[in-house]
Amino acid sequence: MQRGTGMTQVPRKITDDPYGAAELIKRLVAEQGLAYWRRYAVAFCLMGLSAGATAGSAYLLGQVINQAYVNRSISGIVTLSGVIIALFTIKGAATYGQAVILSRISNAILASNQRKLFAKLMRENLTFYSERHSSEFLARLSAGASAVTQVLALLVTSLGRDFLSLIGLLVVMVVQDPMMSLLSFVVAPPAFLFIRKLVKRIRHLAHDQFTGTTNIMETVQESLQGIRTVKAFTLEEVMQARINKSIADVEAYSNKMARVSNRSGPLMEMLGGIAIASALMYGGYRVIATNAAPGQFVSFITAFLLAYEPAKRLARLNIDLNGLLIGARKLLEIVDSPASEPSDDDKPALRIGEGRVELRDVSFSYREDEPVLKRMNLVAEPGQTTALVGPSGGGKSTVLALLLRLYEVDRGAVVIDNQIVSDCSRTSLRQQTAYVGQDVYLFRATVRDNIAFGRIGATEEEIVAAAKAAFAHDFIMSFPQGYDTPVGEHGTQLSGGQRQRIAIARALIKKAPIILLDEATAALDSESEKYVQEALGHLCRDRTTIVIAHRLHTIMHADRILVIENGEIVETGQHDELLRAGGRYASFFRLQQREEHNVTPLAANA
Ligand code: ADP
Repeated sequence: MQRGTGMTQVPRKITDDPYGAAELIKRLVAEQGLAYWRRYAVAFCLMGLSAGATAGSAYLLGQVINQAYVNRSISGIVTLSGVIIALFTIKGAATYGQAVILSRISNAILASNQRKLFAKLMRENLTFYSERHSSEFLARLSAGASAVTQVLALLVTSLGRDFLSLIGLLVVMVVQDPMMSLLSFVVAPPAFLFIRKLVKRIRHLAHDQFTGTTNIMETVQESLQGIRTVKAFTLEEVMQARINKSIADVEAYSNKMARVSNRSGPLMEMLGGIAIASALMYGGYRVIATNAAPGQFVSFITAFLLAYEPAKRLARLNIDLNGLLIGARKLLEIVDSPASEPSDDDKPALRIGEGRVELRDVSFSYREDEPVLKRMNLVAEPGQTTALVGPSGGGKSTVLALLLRLYEVDRGAVVIDNQIVSDCSRTSLRQQTAYVGQDVYLFRATVRDNIAFGRIGATEEEIVAAAKAAFAHDFIMSFPQGYDTPVGEHGTQLSGGQRQRIAIARALIKKAPIILLDEATAALDSESEKYVQEALGHLCRDRTTIVIAHRLHTIMHADRILVIENGEIVETGQHDELLRAGGRYASFFRLQQREEHNVTPLAANA
């Protein structure tokens, strides 16, 4: 099935790794770095300046020694010292300049990647999310986006600062003593061979580390979101045990990473020691045996010691890059994968007149071979209320999801006022449909903003009018901050009924011709339910309304009742007709009546 295959391709890409490190770097440079080439060029020049200053000071040191030991000239020493001060000042200024420029570019790239990833997430459909944990995206957003930035920064500083410094210092070394320079290069080949071997292991470790970190975030997020359940069922220990495993894994990976990635250190130091010892012996021999000027020797050694750090960093470059590239890959995988719900705003807008809603021969399944709706035909007449009832799992919520195009039908069509909905833009459909679901989501914002999300740009009068019609105005005004009361996470706690009424106000302000309600009153006590029912009365008046109900008495007056079972409509009619017919609806209704009379209200809800 097309939904399924689209999704499974993504994880396969992670492990198959179709693009290697070189390809990835090329892409990052071309797609993300190139836009900033002017600023990079300035930073590069500044790095060149700083590298030149470093090499210059190494060279001058030799001259100073010669002035002291060979020429014995005080004025020469003073002049050269002055030049050295100037060189260091230039180096300082240039380093400052390039660091600021590079950080600013990095921040811009980071911000743009975060925006890109979020924009992509907004273009994914519900199937995409049902297959993933939300903390995975947080990990990709935070670690992935900063990894891209670090890859580019590392490349530029390595090429600019380290490589240029190395070249400058090598020139000084070769100028001072070509033979001695050659001696210090013999250690390079074994060092590079060794590093190549390390890189492969680093790549695997970085991948495991990332996955482990995501697992930790998952468990933390789940435990906090479900903190009530965790406490009520004393699951603290279970959750702790779950996270301990992930934490221990990441700790072990990180330790391994530390060992492997620093494994180059001891060898490099030893090779460096060998190189400098050979140079010292050769140079010392020259000064003693052939009376060579000491300045050359000092200058060479200085250049060598200064070159040592950048050379080590360059040798490690591949190791560090490969660690970071994993993060970059995690980000690009999401950004690259085809959007599961790409914008279709180029399609004509849905034009709703009277608002007749139909399902024509619609089949749908979430997973292959598990049909949820089977060739369903359904008509919701304009301006009337159509109720969907039936046992749980029958497919009622799925009908609403298809009407909102949260999923696309496998067969048949959703038709509104004779227009096939999938031929019109998704935005135009959703803008003209108001949906109030079972769990009301309030955003971290004020009550006013939460209502205004129904229609961006709503005026204060419209917001208050909607709140009044939703019977929310009075309780909102009873808060000290009124409409400015913060709700959502960390906000004022609202009761279920209050949240529902805010959601209804949000739907009211939309002035949509089609209303979809999903068990909006299922979780309420009778007092709240009365208010919510009246608010819903305002919302649904003269609009095409499709409502899912568990409590049948809430839809007794619906214009039409459809009983849905196993993805099929098994009965249709008005309350009285269906009761008289004595079929499925009648038995449901009697069962519920009996439950409501005999059993506590709590159990009747369940
Ligand atoms: P109802 O609203 O009548 O209780 P639903 O439309 O929610 O029924 O569900 C119909 C069937 O589809 C159920 O068997 C349910 O398990 C399945 N289902 C619902 N949502 C999903 C989903 N996101 N992924 C897979 N299966 C789902």
